[in-house]
Amino acid sequence: LLQLFIPLNFLGILYRSIKYALVDMDMLFRLLEQTPEIQNAPDAKTLLIEDASIHFDNVSFHYQPDRPILHNISFTIPQGHKVAVVGASGAGKSTLARLLFRFYDVTGGSIRINGHDIRTVSMASLRAAMGIVPQDTVLFNDSIYYNIAYANPQADEITVQNAAKIANIHDFILQLPQGYNTLVGERGLKLSGGEKQRVAIARAVLKRPKILIFDEATSSLDSKSEQTIQSALINVASQHTTLVIAHRLSTIIDANEILVMEQGHIIERGTHSILLENNSVYANLWRLQQEEQRE
Ligand code: ATP
Repeated sequence: LLQLFIPLNFLGILYRSIKYALVDMDMLFRLLEQTPEIQNAPDAKTLLIEDASIHFDNVSFHYQPDRPILHNISFTIPQGHKVAVVGASGAGKSTLARLLFRFYDVTGGSIRINGHDIRTVSMASLRAAMGIVPQDTVLFNDSIYYNIAYANPQADEITVQNAAKIANIHDFILQLPQGYNTLVGERGLKLSGGEKQRVAIARAVLKRPKILIFDEATSSLDSKSEQTIQSALINVASQHTTLVIAHRLSTIIDANEILVMEQGHIIERGTHSILLENNSVYANLWRLQQEEQRE
């Protein structure tokens, strides 16, 4: 039996390594596709991040020289704070997140984390410090447990379940036919957009990044899912420095600062209550969304 066990155990290890490798390959291909030109500086250092503060200092950016996308963007996210970016489609919100993740380099100004220009640190250490909750989360054809746990293969069951609790997805999982062992993905149970985003939040919690980038899905969610995601975000954001690209203003009422963008410029900034008092672009957007919810 032992003779059988050793090769089977080896096959198990091989299977898991290939699976993790595929996840990494998938990431790698996406990065290669998007950023062939971005490379480590020859003397790139490891990002030290005791203080996960983020500074965008006069940042300008274009994908093509004849079409500027961002103009002189400056803001700071102190450690543990949450900054939200709102604005019409195409205003440049996701571009800010792509620059922070160094999918591209700024064409003017600089981005600093803990005082270090991100062009001077190694990409691996920069990206290890960040967790991204994307608009659309890819689920593997595997158990929901695996789908959360792969973010940190060393995590034990209690830690995985705690991450799910913080992300407000634990109770939902317990109601599934086989709990955490329920198969999800294309060949298993299909999850809704809101449930998938909560899985992504649980992954991010498990990765324990110092910096969290949350790219809120544009697709509309029912108000209950919206509230569950909102409170999950509040749970998570309290432990990280967070940048939220928001489409629904109700998810960012508690942000330390909200930046309102239009055609690559910040046209208004402040807390939710200050922006309402200003009674301008943000206040109009807020009223519009409140009316839509009532309909
Ligand atoms: P949305 O709310 O629709 O996600 P956004 O505010 O996040 O929009 P961005 O995705 O940052 O907007 O895009 C800003 C502008 O940059 C858009 O006009 C877009 O067409 C352009 N853009 C985005 N990605 C690229 C790219 N890879 N190459 C060229 N232009 C791009």
